[in-house]
Amino acid sequence: MTILYNEPMKNRSSFRTGGIADMVILPENAEELVNALSQYKNAVILGNCTNTLVTDKGIRGVVIITADVKGLSVESDGEEGIITASCGESMSSLANFAMINSLTGLEFLYGIPGTVGGGIYMNAGAFGGEVKDVVKEVTLFSAERGIFTLRSDQMEFGYRTSILKGKSYTVLSAAFRGKKGKRAEIEAKMNEYMASRKAKQPLEYPSCGSTFKRPEGYFAGRLIEECNLKGKAVGGAMVSTKHAGFIINYNSATSDDILKLIDCVKQTVYKAKGVMLEEEIKIIGE
Ligand SMILES: Cc1cc2nc3c(=O)[nH]c(=O)nc-3n(C[C@H](O)[C@H](O)[C@H](O)COP(=O)(O)OP(=O)(O)OC[C@H]3O[C@@H](n4cnc5c(N)ncnc54)[C@H](O)[C@@H]3O)c2cc1C
Repeated sequence: MTILYNEPMKNRSSFRTGGIADMVILPENAEELVNALSQYKNAVILGNCTNTLVTDKGIRGVVIITADVKGLSVESDGEEGIITASCGESMSSLANFAMINSLTGLEFLYGIPGTVGGGIYMNAGAFGGEVKDVVKEVTLFSAERGIFTLRSDQMEFGYRTSILKGKSYTVLSAAFRGKKGKRAEIEAKMNEYMASRKAKQPLEYPSCGSTFKRPEGYFAGRLIEECNLKGKAVGGAMVSTKHAGFIINYNSATSDDILKLIDCVKQTVYKAKGVMLEEEIKIIGE
């Protein structure tokens, strides 16, 4: 287990911005994670910090980063396979593992840069798939309940949300279902999805992916584009010219630059379109 003091969160957040966290704990297995959670009950939990903006003032207190809690295993179950993944595995590693084991259904996770824990919290999704479609059950820890398991239908999954929002439950691991398929076809689909990401998303710049949720009946990116906000910048933050749904750190942005730009986009879209965008990204810190 690694413990870091006064850790600049810009080293952690995929926006590459954010102030210092007083203390960062990086457990390397579930036991160390449970011990850390039991000791620091108010700690902030993060996976890969690919959906989280940390404010410039940073975080007073303890952050537990689960990205080093790794482990993947598979069991055959008739025409299905059940993959158990530890919370810190990346969703790309999970998709890759499914492919190596000729299990189909998890291809859409390939290229989402977050962890299994973050993906479950967010019910992450892409290319028509969502985490909820492939989760069988989730093993969680909370100081009140200890270690317990919830089935997928008990997870209250919704669009980019789950039961974990507002609860102090931490994902330790999750079991995913895949159907037996052909490895070459699975790999081809993953490569197709990755090519599509590279073509459409500004992966060459730091970001947290789509900044805003999709408002009912609209696409956030299209609304932003129709308001001529592509390329709109505040300090070093910019609405991507490649994908209007992404705010990028194109030139040493601060979190404050990003927050001001988010506000500007929301106000402009609301005035022009009457739609109030809601952040998909999580904002934490002082
Ligand atoms: C280039 C790029 C592309 C992206 N594409 C997509 C996409 O296609 N689809 C999509 O849905 N998202 C996408 N994202 C956003 C992001 O990767 C997902 O939201 C991902 O699920 C976040 O995982 P994370 O581990 O980084 O979470 P973090 O940002 O670390 O945390 C997000 C939330 O999850 C909670 N959390 C993290 N780990 C745990 C745990 N073990 N237990 C309980 N709670 C936990 C945190 O407290 C926080 O509230 C993209 C981001 C980038 C940068």
